[in-house]
Formats: sequence, C-alpha cells, structure tokens
Amino acid sequence: MSEKNRVLIAGAGPVGFTLAYNLARRGVPCTILEGSDRIFDDPRAGTIHPPTLEMFDEIGVTPTMMERGYKVTHYQYRDRKQGVIADFELGVLESETKFPFRLMLEQHKICYILRDLLKGYADCEVLMQHRVMDVAQDSDGVTVNVEAPDGRKTFRGAYLVGCDGGRSAVRKSMDVTFDGFTYEERFLVLSTRYDFGQFGYALTNYIADPQEWCALFKVPGQDEKGMWRVVFPADAKADPKDIFEESLVQRRVQGFHKIEGDYDIVHRNLYDVHQRVASRYRDGRLLVAGDAAHINNPLGGMGMNFGLHDAFNLADKLERVLDGASEDLFDLYDRQRRTVAQEYLQRQTIENKRNIEQKDSVAQEAFYNELRAINADKGKLLPYLMRVAMIEGIRRANSIV
Ligand SMILES: Cc1cc2nc3c(=O)[nH]c(=O)nc-3n(C[C@H](O)[C@H](O)[C@H](O)COP(=O)(O)OP(=O)(O)OC[C@H]3O[C@@H](n4cnc5c(N)ncnc54)[C@H](O)[C@@H]3O)c2cc1C
Repeated sequence: MSEKNRVLIAGAGPVGFTLAYNLARRGVPCTILEGSDRIFDDPRAGTIHPPTLEMFDEIGVTPTMMERGYKVTHYQYRDRKQGVIADFELGVLESETKFPFRLMLEQHKICYILRDLLKGYADCEVLMQHRVMDVAQDSDGVTVNVEAPDGRKTFRGAYLVGCDGGRSAVRKSMDVTFDGFTYEERFLVLSTRYDFGQFGYALTNYIADPQEWCALFKVPGQDEKGMWRVVFPADAKADPKDIFEESLVQRRVQGFHKIEGDYDIVHRNLYDVHQRVASRYRDGRLLVAGDAAHINNPLGGMGMNFGLHDAFNLADKLERVLDGASEDLFDLYDRQRRTVAQEYLQRQTIENKRNIEQKDSVAQEAFYNELRAINADKGKLLPYLMRVAMIEGIRRANSIV
C-alpha cells in the first residue's frame, strides 16, 4: 500500500496499539503519535472479557496474554455484611465462546506485548513525545501538527484516528459533542500484596454496601507475584492528600476486611468517573475509538474492552476503504460501535454502579434475590453471563448493517 495511504493514530494506549497492530498486519502503513514519553502503567484496566480474547486469538496474541495473565473462572457478588450472594461460574459460557473466563492482565502489559510485535513491521512507527496539537483535513487527507522535543512538526496521512483517551484532542477538533455526565464521586484504587485469596475471595469480587461498596481484583502485578486492587468510592471535593492519608486508607481496607496489623498499601490512585459517548465517531477523515469515543465507570471492567472492539472493527474498514471501498464504511463503524456504546455499555455500567451502592434495603434485597435466582437457573444464567461477559454487545454490534 502506498505512503499516501498512511493512517495516523493519536495515542499509544491499548486502543491505539491494537489499531496499529491490526493495520500493520494488513499491510497498511501507520504512525502512532503519543504525547507522553512512556506507556502509562497506572492501575486501570485489568479485566479482559471473552470476545476480546477471541479477537486477539485471531491475530495470534491471546496465547501470550494467557501466559502473563490470571484466568478467572468464577467471580463473586457479595454484600459487605451478608457475605457471598452469588458465585458465578463463567464455564457456563463454553457453549458460546472458546474462552469461557475472564483474563486478569494489566492494560499496560497489553501495550507492551503489541509494541514488541510492532517492531517487526517497518511501515509502522511509534513516536513517543509527539503530542497532537491541532488537526486539519482536506479532500486528499489530514494534516496533524504535533509538539515534539525538537519543536513543532507536521504529519500528513489519509486518515487520523483519535485513540487519545477521554480528553481527546482529535475529538475536540471534530464537529461532535461528548454527551453524558460526570459523577460527583471519584474512585480510589488501593493496591496491596496482602493475599485475600486465603479467605475465599475469587480473583474478581463486587462487594455491595449502601455506605461504602468496594470491588476487589487480583492482577499479576509488576513482579508477576500477584497484586490485589481494592476500589472504593471517594468524595470528589476532598483533597487527594486527605484521601490518601495512611490512617484513612488503612481504616477503609480494614473496614471491609479486618486483619491484625496494617495493610501494605503499595499504590494509591484516584480517578474521576464519567458516563459519556461522542455524538458521532466520524467527521470526514477524522475518527475516534476507545475512551476518545466513550467513557464509563469501571465497574464490570468494560471500557477498555469496548475500545479494543472499536479498534478491531475500524482496522477492517480502514483497510477496505484504502483498497477502494466506499467511505460509507466509516458510517457503518459509527452506527455499529456508537449504538452499542449507548444501548449497552452505558446502560450496563450505570446499572452496575447503582446496584453496588443501592441505599434502599428493599430494592437491595430484591436485587440479591434476582442474582440468586439467575445463578440457580441455567436458562437465566447463560443470557445473564453473555451480557456481563460482553458477548451480547458484540453480537448486537455485528448485527447492525
Ligand atoms: C480504575 C479503573 C479501572 C478500569 N478497569 C477496567 C477494566 O478492568 N476493564 C476495562 O475494559 N476497562 C477498564 N477501565 C477503563 C480503561 O482504563 C480505559 O477504557 C482504557 O484506558 C482506554 O484506552 P484508550 O487507549 O482508549 O485510552 P488511554 O488508555 O487513555 O490512552 C490514551 C493515550 O493517548 C495519549 N494522548 C492523550 N492526548 C494526546 C495527544 N493530544 N496527542 C498524543 N497522544 C495523546 C495518552 O498519553 C495515552 O497514552 C478502567 C479505568 C479505570 C480508571
């Protein structure tokens, strides 16, 4: 494919790398322009769902992910006082997927794996410290101005895809809005090596409570020896210094699981939480994918997975358009991916947050009874797990023409 067909990608996050690797394998030249000097390794996505494992399997990446991650064959829904409400066996999904489990692997490790694979493709460059500043398009292509250590530079390509996260500069240069809302609450993520597994916790646990819910996950961690992450709600107005204060942090973790002595808290991170979807994913030669197109609260572990599905979908359409197919394919990308982001991703994640923090005790008990009934009846369990494992969403997207 000729140089004038180069695709520019803003952002070296999991979505940018996934798009680049899919394009590179198809022989489409591409350039990733990343503002930072490194791949972010703060504790964000750690859960990879079955459809994502299927997609990466088709391009030969899943076996490497499986070697580095933890297989989650069941997950628990708990109440902070009552204990386990339902323990969901993901094996039920075996009739629907080759991967009837979740994989716990931190998102920056997906980036590292793909970055290494991209080294085998001379036509794909990854340029760190190249921040996209402004963007223009004409009938032949796009012009992107970036700020690099040696000054301002200009890049030219056929299309520009914004994989540059929630504050996307590419999206802001498009004629679109980013509709939705921001919660008046942040999420506090605490990481500890303390082994909760010895007390019967699964590798993934959602622990409901009207005052202080939490979510508990185990990821491999930097030394691959295992790191538990505990997520709590945090006051949006409080000073992060106070939220991170050692005695308060200890009180929070001790509050949901009391141990002798202090927890060894390795990291403390705080995130704003939003629910927003771009009003369009395409404006001429500019496109968005991943968090640049949709953001949501992380309960359910869906945001990155959804963005990765965008990247697989879009790579196929970019190749076909560059091979001569109509640009209408980009409108199909917009219809398929934006529809499910609105109908499914937003609805499911808003519901997950509402359920875990439910303050009405009658509604809370009714929800627990519903979970127990679903778990006891395979006819209900399979469709339920297909929804939470994102199989329903990907099938719905693919059915849109
Ligand atoms: C606490 C937490 C837990 C989460 N857990 C999960 C989970 O388990 N599963 C899941 O699916 N999702 C989860 N998510 C969501 C997930 O982290 C995001 O959906 C994911 O990071 C989106 O990837 P991305 O590549 O679209 O954007 P990002 O990861 O945000 O990457 C964007 C990249 O663009 C770069 N950039 C920004 N502006 C510019 C610019 N102007 N020019 C060039 N580069 C630029 C940034 O430096 C960055 O490298 C979680 C999020 C949080 C906060």
